[in-house]
Amino acid sequence: MSQNDALFERAQKTIPGGVNSPVRAFRQVGGTPRFVTRAQGPYFWDADNKQYIDLIMSWGPMIVGHAHPEVVEAVKKAAETSFSYGAPTEGEIELAERICQLMPSIEQVRMVSSGTEAAMSALRLARGYTGRDLIIKFEGCYHGHADSLLVKAGSGLLTFADSTQNAPSSGGVPQDLVKHTLVLPYNDVAAFEEVFKKQGDQIAAVILEPIAGNMNLIQPSGEFLSVIRNLTSKYGSVLIYDEVMTGFRVALGGAQSLQGVIPDLTCLGKVMGGGMPMAAFGGKKEIMSKLAPLGNVYQAGTLSGNPVAVAAGLKTLEIVSREGFYECLGEQTQKLMQGLKQAANKVNLPFAVDSVGGMFGFYFADQVPTSYEAVTKTNIEAFKKFFHLMLDEGVYLAPSAYEAGFTSIAHTNEVIDAIISAAEKSFQKLK
Ligand code: PMP
Repeated sequence: MSQNDALFERAQKTIPGGVNSPVRAFRQVGGTPRFVTRAQGPYFWDADNKQYIDLIMSWGPMIVGHAHPEVVEAVKKAAETSFSYGAPTEGEIELAERICQLMPSIEQVRMVSSGTEAAMSALRLARGYTGRDLIIKFEGCYHGHADSLLVKAGSGLLTFADSTQNAPSSGGVPQDLVKHTLVLPYNDVAAFEEVFKKQGDQIAAVILEPIAGNMNLIQPSGEFLSVIRNLTSKYGSVLIYDEVMTGFRVALGGAQSLQGVIPDLTCLGKVMGGGMPMAAFGGKKEIMSKLAPLGNVYQAGTLSGNPVAVAAGLKTLEIVSREGFYECLGEQTQKLMQGLKQAANKVNLPFAVDSVGGMFGFYFADQVPTSYEAVTKTNIEAFKKFFHLMLDEGVYLAPSAYEAGFTSIAHTNEVIDAIISAAEKSFQKLK
């Protein structure tokens, strides 16, 4: 029995499913999760001492590569002065100032410990600010596991009239709560307009991933974004961009800096904590000032603004702000995607690719999908086989066809070439 198998067997005795977050369990692709022992740059090693090129990078945060010496140094220094005080520090101000400077739509920001908390708190704030209950989210977008957000569309759900058909996509979520969440298809302008025409003045917030990464990578159309912005402004609903994944990943200023649409609130996480439990939400001062202790919308956290996490985040943001960082990251990622596509073409497999900055998607399909429904129609069986063939070759892809992939600045030419050559072999076998 391999060490990974032994650890998985042992883990399942005391941890439900053997993992502390479900997607780690290889549920879609099958097989034994790899237990990581260490990581460096673009690589990690598992319990059997096999080396992998990492294309998840902790689901996004490790954009400067694993165990970057400067980040390690900053964390060590912070840790020497205790791990947490539960009282404010100057580092939190520096991080807040840095975020506001890099994302001008954010005038004030509150730090939390996970993306889930960021989205949950932003929604509560939007509801408190508007005095309304209804929220809109989009099918296939993930905003963490707060109750209101664990909802998928009932079949044929397009308008408010159908919203009572919404079913929670998790046990333990009251139907009563779900009735306040409307789920619409991503990139469907007509569906969005129709709901706003009927219910616009009751909608507290619209929350979306401005580049979706939780149904593989799906980009929004310009029209979709501008209709959302115009109607939310017209009806006084709060537009929340969930940039937990895209913030400091697709560009220094996030997706909003590429698309030219300015949200009211933004959720951040992942890269901003450099791999430590750290996230944030922020935006217009007028809205943010409704938060406790100034306003009546309560939100708090024992470990919020944790000094060790702040140190990792500040150093990571310093590194990504250096000249040419995103140009290089974007070029490398594109090179990787083109290489994968060429390798698939050689064996005549339907295969499409997309990327923005250090985030990418590949699809066993003729075209890049534009909705959750389209992603479900890609060849998932081919993906599963490809995943395992690549794993054998020492390349660790996201273990689901519904996840985006992530590169880092440590994915140099040599690393990209190694991935492409693994893909060539894998496609040959897949054929
Ligand atoms: N929002 C988005 C867009 C995400 O991708 C994620 C996590 N993948 C979350 C929120 C939740 O973040 P966390 O897992 O830190 O709670």
